[in-house]
Amino acid sequence: MKIVEEFSTLQGEGKYLGVPSYFIRSTGCNLRCAWKNKDESVTVCDTPYTSWQPEKGYELNVDKVLEELRGSKIEHIVLTGGEPTIQPDLREVSNRFNDNSYIVTVETNGTRYHEGMERAFISISPKLKSSYAQLDERERQFHVRNNDFIESTRSWMRSNNYQLKFVVNQHSDMSEIVELQEDLQVPGNKIYLMPQGISEEQFKERQHWLFRVCQQYGFTYTPRMHIDIFGNVRGS
Ligand code: SF4
Repeated sequence: MKIVEEFSTLQGEGKYLGVPSYFIRSTGCNLRCAWKNKDESVTVCDTPYTSWQPEKGYELNVDKVLEELRGSKIEHIVLTGGEPTIQPDLREVSNRFNDNSYIVTVETNGTRYHEGMERAFISISPKLKSSYAQLDERERQFHVRNNDFIESTRSWMRSNNYQLKFVVNQHSDMSEIVELQEDLQVPGNKIYLMPQGISEEQFKERQHWLFRVCQQYGFTYTPRMHIDIFGNVRGS
């Protein structure tokens, strides 16, 4: 697996919020997310170095990670990106950590399914239509063409424990989320909503109404804790 960074931190989003974890970030993504804000500014993906301008990265050394973590209190490994499901050895890597008694979370945009790694917890973050704000037509086409997540998400839901975690940008996202919930038959307690943003101001703009929306629909609110605390910096 080609990765750009690995670090110990606390999980910042979703079901395992706040849990000490070792993050492994793969390079490369098959999407190009970008969101338009109220002031017409555009926020691109919070890890552009794995998507819009992917770094070449280096090969993950699982033995070295296991050695480093031996004796530490960390029980969780997070395979994230970029998009880890485009890595051909994702299954082998995930299973090796499970074989060594780690709890593995794979964070994915849901567009690609891998069988044979049923012990992993799959954190699926389908990208809604509001993520199509690219100004560059070539990038927009790339995003639209690849953002086909329904069937592979269904497959993950059948075979693995999972959560669905949505980046919410605007009110109109909610009808899309509810339609997806019905289509995929997802229990409300598996759906997490988090505000789109990479700055305090952008979060603030969305936090209050998203809080109420979660109450209304029976979904769980999740902050993006690492950005709240450290800002949008690498390796936090
Ligand atoms: S799917 Fe994730 S990593 Fe890829 S462009 Fe979108 S936000 Fe970035």
